[in-house]
Amino acid sequence: MKSILHNKNDRTCFLCMLLYDDDSYKQVLEEHHVFFGRALRKLSEKFGLKVYLCIPHHRLSKEAVHQNAQVSGMVQAYAQRTFEKKFPEKNFREIFGKNYIMDEIEENQEESEPVAGFTPISDGVEGMDW
Ligand SMILES: [Zn+2]
Ligand SMILES: [Zn+2]
Repeated sequence: MKSILHNKNDRTCFLCMLLYDDDSYKQVLEEHHVFFGRALRKLSEKFGLKVYLCIPHHRLSKEAVHQNAQVSGMVQAYAQRTFEKKFPEKNFREIFGKNYIMDEIEENQEESEPVAGFTPISDGVEGMDW
């Protein structure tokens, strides 16, 4: 299914926009399934939970979704919110088995820092859906 999060034809990087308000044209973009690894990747495909990323933001920088669990979690929370708006009759948590919206889980939001300040998690790479 077509992405419900991001228009492929815009030729923008989802994270460049989210993190830097940079909506410039990107020559090279890669498709990223927001929920990845085995079953989740299929669900991402089924519901259009995909974004388009420049290569650094996909896998080759400290802010890459496949290297930085904070960045990945941010995109996942966004995807969950969008899913819940788009499919109000469906139960995201039942389908995906988890709630990704952190501020609903943790009450203490004061310690949250800007994403750019986080150190990457070295084992954040999962599966081979690059
Ligand atoms: Zn980017
Ligand atoms: Zn990916």
